[in-house]
Amino acid sequence: MDNLNSSLKKIWDNLKDDIREVITEQAFSTWIEPIHPVTIENKVLTLEVPSQFYYEWIDSHYQPLIVESLKEATGEVINLRYSVVVGETRQENETPKLKHSTISISKSYDSGSKLNKRYSFESFVEGSNNQFAKAAAIAVAESPGQTSFNPLLIYGGVGLGKTHLLQAIGNHVLNTQNENKINYITSEKFTLDFITSIQKSSTAEFSRKYRNVDILLVDDIQFLQKKEQTQEQFFHTFNELYQQGKQIVLTMDRHPNELYGLKDRLLSRFQSGLIVDVQAPNLETRIAILQKKADMDDLEIPYEILEIIAINIKSNIREMEGALIKILAYSSLYRSDITMELAQRALKETLGNSAFNNLTIDDIIRRISAALNVPEGKLIGKGRKMEIVLARQIAMYLCRDMVGASLVNIGLHFGGRDHTTVIHACKTVKKKMMENLEFSRKVKNLKNHIII
Ligand code: ADP
Ligand code: MG
Repeated sequence: MDNLNSSLKKIWDNLKDDIREVITEQAFSTWIEPIHPVTIENKVLTLEVPSQFYYEWIDSHYQPLIVESLKEATGEVINLRYSVVVGETRQENETPKLKHSTISISKSYDSGSKLNKRYSFESFVEGSNNQFAKAAAIAVAESPGQTSFNPLLIYGGVGLGKTHLLQAIGNHVLNTQNENKINYITSEKFTLDFITSIQKSSTAEFSRKYRNVDILLVDDIQFLQKKEQTQEQFFHTFNELYQQGKQIVLTMDRHPNELYGLKDRLLSRFQSGLIVDVQAPNLETRIAILQKKADMDDLEIPYEILEIIAINIKSNIREMEGALIKILAYSSLYRSDITMELAQRALKETLGNSAFNNLTIDDIIRRISAALNVPEGKLIGKGRKMEIVLARQIAMYLCRDMVGASLVNIGLHFGGRDHTTVIHACKTVKKKMMENLEFSRKVKNLKNHIII
């Protein structure tokens, strides 16, 4: 393996070429490029990645691809290990916004129970939208099979936390009542297992596997729609567990009454327990969720950025997380701190430019006047004092850059100036930003200040 280590770079470069062939350029540059291979030892390749999110994303999306390519290159099955390195680079003179830390983590996914450890009650932010569901889930997790909430059925739209709650129940039981056997499964996997067991004539084994548990957690029951034979099988499993006082928790994407293609007797079983829903969270809860995710990864992301994401993505928490991940990816890709500007760049496609600039020319004039301590009257007036002229030029530039206002319109707001004056101002500022790093930083800070 040592000789593998010495050729690690080459192996990795080849692997990148392979992967580049099969995924989009965007995905490649966002996810694969920033990975840094560290060592390869005892058939374990350690990869350095910029954050916990990153690791989870790569692990869930690209792991098989990486392992497959490695196998081709080395002829061996090589496992992956991740090391998370947060916030490598800084601009000088700035206090780090990210904590620098190297955390070696093992998989947070437990292959025995198939539960993701990150999905806990502690990491589940409570809001009016999910309070009842969370309380019911906790009650069930504390005394599985002992409450009247059996089965517990959690329903709600995509990305609102059903899987999280379901797994939190499993994790809680795993941590506090280890002797209880848990089976967490998606209804798709249940279906697949069942079909395989028919093909292999091993249905008895299938039954044993599913009926020999204390807690059965089945995710996304809606996938059983129209699969009559699987439903039948599920019905029997359900009954058997229920009669033995075992706990069953199910999730689905809508109220059971609206699930078509489910047999009535299965439906009536579902309705014999407790049905709770998760709704879309309100703004405060959305911000709190983002904050929680950032905290869990030890990231300090400016509040304003979390707010921008939360204001603009309303209905789906997974999408909100996606936005956060994208910002993190950009931050590591461009080796830059997480600033409003970076967020803007990262989220332009997802949120559209307007998320950042429902600003007007007047807003900009007012805020620049406050930030630079130049009275508005002077900012748009005729004065020729050097620092006022410069402030005016910056303001014009930002009106163009941030509001996308027309030259004529900007001119009008600045004391009826001609559009050529505005062009000249914009050019001057741009040139100066290119030549003078300090100045460029000042303008960027102003920009952040304006958005906030
Ligand atoms: P669903 O199964 O309803 O489609 P998930 O449970 O997969 O949704 O949730 C999507 C993402 O949003 C997960 O990463 C989950 O951790 C997160 N999430 C959802 N609700 C909350 C919440 N209340 N607090 C923290 N994270 C949440
Ligand atoms: Mg789910």
